[in-house]
Amino acid sequence: MTLYLKYRPQKIAELDLKSVRERLEAMVKSGRDLPHAWLFSGPRGTGKTSTARILAKYVNCRGKDKPCNKCETCVSITNGSCPDVIEIDAASNRGIDEIRQLRERVGLAPMTTDYKVYIIDEAHMLTTEAANALLKTLEEPPEHVLFVLCTTESEKLPETVVSRCAVVRFGRPSIDEISDRLEKVAKSEKVKLDLGDIKEIAAAARGSFRDAVKLFEQVMLGEGDVKKMLGASDKSDPQEFLGMVRAGKTKEALGRVDELVQGGVDLRKFVEKCVELLREELIGSVTNEKTANSGELIKLIEGLEKAYGRMKDAAVVQLPIEIFVIENSKAPVGFEPQSRPSNGQAPNAKQPPSSIEQKIKPQISGLVTGGSKLDDVMGKWQEVIKAVRPKNHSVEALLRSTRPVDFDGRDLVLEAFYEFHKKQLETERCRLIVEEAVGEILGVGQVKLKMKLGNSPVRVQKVTDDLKSDELIETAREIFK
Ligand SMILES: [Zn+2]
Repeated sequence: MTLYLKYRPQKIAELDLKSVRERLEAMVKSGRDLPHAWLFSGPRGTGKTSTARILAKYVNCRGKDKPCNKCETCVSITNGSCPDVIEIDAASNRGIDEIRQLRERVGLAPMTTDYKVYIIDEAHMLTTEAANALLKTLEEPPEHVLFVLCTTESEKLPETVVSRCAVVRFGRPSIDEISDRLEKVAKSEKVKLDLGDIKEIAAAARGSFRDAVKLFEQVMLGEGDVKKMLGASDKSDPQEFLGMVRAGKTKEALGRVDELVQGGVDLRKFVEKCVELLREELIGSVTNEKTANSGELIKLIEGLEKAYGRMKDAAVVQLPIEIFVIENSKAPVGFEPQSRPSNGQAPNAKQPPSSIEQKIKPQISGLVTGGSKLDDVMGKWQEVIKAVRPKNHSVEALLRSTRPVDFDGRDLVLEAFYEFHKKQLETERCRLIVEEAVGEILGVGQVKLKMKLGNSPVRVQKVTDDLKSDELIETAREIFK
């Protein structure tokens, strides 16, 4: 048994997510009847299924301190042998059949327990037909039935289904919450790890309890060199892969895809994780007014969705994602999308331009028309960005999504691609930071910043969009030869 399964929480009080734990404790303590239909929504690895099982035990436990985890019912649910707790994976073919059967059998009384509990995993994958069948049952669930729908994408579920459920949101756990879990596991396994190492594993798990415990297990089985182990496991880190794509490191990103295939990583799952990350960043960019480039994010998400759809029938399973890399990893000159390399690896040396690069480059340089001093700014642009960083992170991020287009020694014209970015940089606070940094780095004293709105970064995409997909495949072939 994996450590994750061995140490998954077995009681409400043991739940790792504070918000979920407190919500359920309050509902249970209130003494009111529990809802018959639940929707657990949140990212993978945050404990939705574990919580569903605890709920199943809670309503059926014969012991005093529910769930006691000792009575026959509790034990049978824990080891998965209870005939009245039915787990259905809606993403599998069998799942669809099981939902069909559900309607026929849902009226039958449970065999050994008080409540029949249906745990429907990946509920957003239900077909319309299955969702409708389920809906009929949710409208008037029989007294003896409890439904727990688990999903990573509740927005894909029909509103009619969601509205009939008590919704519990499983947020991404904090590093502290993950560390707490790891400390419990370490203690039970009698493994000594210092807090620094535990935090490092927790951070590397990126919001997944399951991944955290898996990493912990790897570290435990290995020589205990946490840093080395984490370095090795980073290959399937979607963050790092996306960083390569967004930084325009085409060959590196393609190399990574190859490594994933060699390493037996499930590419569809990997793409799902990538989309999940980008989606979070996108939502964050809208709700927290972070300065991420939402146009770029949407483009990447759409590209990945397209690749995801094609993967099912692709003759070469990794080809769709390779095409995604080629289509999306071209950064225009002087435009460096935000990338977050996780372990300070040196960027690859310059690579010979691929045929797509050759097609795109002239178009990009054509866009750059400026005074004679523009080259000076361009040459030191990264230095300017670096100098701004300690002063203000959001200005730094804003600068990364702009491009110098003119400089005459005093007036610096920056091109932003979104009105929002332009406005932010025009505020006095931001403007002064940029002006000061440019003046200092270039040694020119007084600088005046002027913002202009350029075409959205889609301009690069356009070039590739116009290419026939045959050409893309041809280019992919060229690169791999
Ligand atoms: Zn019990």
